Amino acid sequence: MRRIYLDHSATTPVDPEVAELIMKYYLEYYGNPSSVHFYGRQVKKAVEEAREQVAQLIGAQPGEIFFTSGGTESDNLAIQGTARARGNRGKHLITTAIEHHAVLDTFKYLAKNGYDLTILPVDEEGIINVEDVVKAIRPDTILISVMHANNEVGSIQPISEIGKIAREKGILFHVDAVQSLGKLPIDVVEMNIDLLTVSSHKIYGPKGVGALYVRRGVKISPLVFGGSQEKKMRSGTENAPGIIGFGKACELAGLRMNEENKVLRHLRDKLIKGIMDNIPSVKLNGPLGDKRLPNNVNVSINFVEGESLLLSLDMIGIAASSGSACTSGSLDPSHVLLAMGLSHEVAHGSLRFSLGRQNTEEEIDIVIQELPKIVERLRAMSPLYNKAD
Ligand code: PLP
Repeated sequence: MRRIYLDHSATTPVDPEVAELIMKYYLEYYGNPSSVHFYGRQVKKAVEEAREQVAQLIGAQPGEIFFTSGGTESDNLAIQGTARARGNRGKHLITTAIEHHAVLDTFKYLAKNGYDLTILPVDEEGIINVEDVVKAIRPDTILISVMHANNEVGSIQPISEIGKIAREKGILFHVDAVQSLGKLPIDVVEMNIDLLTVSSHKIYGPKGVGALYVRRGVKISPLVFGGSQEKKMRSGTENAPGIIGFGKACELAGLRMNEENKVLRHLRDKLIKGIMDNIPSVKLNGPLGDKRLPNNVNVSINFVEGESLLLSLDMIGIAASSGSACTSGSLDPSHVLLAMGLSHEVAHGSLRFSLGRQNTEEEIDIVIQELPKIVERLRAMSPLYNKAD
């Protein structure tokens, strides 16, 4: 069966160049980067090169990059690390209603443990209002955390404006850039970002590796203690092959971003139009054009369940994802879609297609052809649809 992968926001395949490099560091250069002998030195050099490659993609200095096990750990390190280091200055934290659970649940944990949390709302396109940030700031605010681009609906947040405000007020500013790295230009200096989370497996690098950018001079507390690796910020023997692969993936992303985005935007807009034109009672979730990630399509298809759509698509070889977090063991609709004002029913019928490097126009044509047939079949069985008719 021909398979079409349209779930790149969940994860990406490893780029063949990256995979080839990683294999070298499993099979030939397998030393511990802390070792002083030849084996260790070779790996240490490659890890430092990777640090430069990651730094370059976000406009940072290599010394400001700390490798971790991925986006989740980087988010935890940024948020808990700030709370621990600055908790004596204030207990107020600000974030948004559409953050990834790695951010939201970390803040909720802190809120149960003596911190005060403000969760900012979003508009119907999934974008926060800068004025709401200004209004939420208090004398005891120590951290503002806002994601660069949302993983479900692709909405891009006004990061530079918030960064300016946070810097003026002396409040640390954390940005989860897991979904925007390699897709949108990021300059931590220009955007006044103090802490930035990135992850390798969303940009054709290996899984289980990421980094936290910590602006020089900013002090946060580590969460993991031990052998003092990563300048004591993250102890534990480095995942050297993963880190080196991540560095290479960053280099490739930087080189390819502009060209790739042109193609992705074209395919994204074609898919959106194809769905909207061919299926009645469909709503596009998230903004249009430049306010949306180049690879994200998210629609709510009324009178059908997202999970049924996913399974039907999977049966004909098309991989997408839905707005209800079924995989995490709950059938609750997405907190992001609810925050954008969608009803539970509409949120339940949502479907996300996230495009990537290998997708072709032909694949998009197949989805545009097949999805309306699936929707028609599912609606024919839906008591809700028959009533609406
Ligand atoms: N933040 C966002 C916005 C994400 O989309 C994800 C993963 O889906 C994460 C954080 C977690 O990253 P990781 O899978 O590397 O732990």
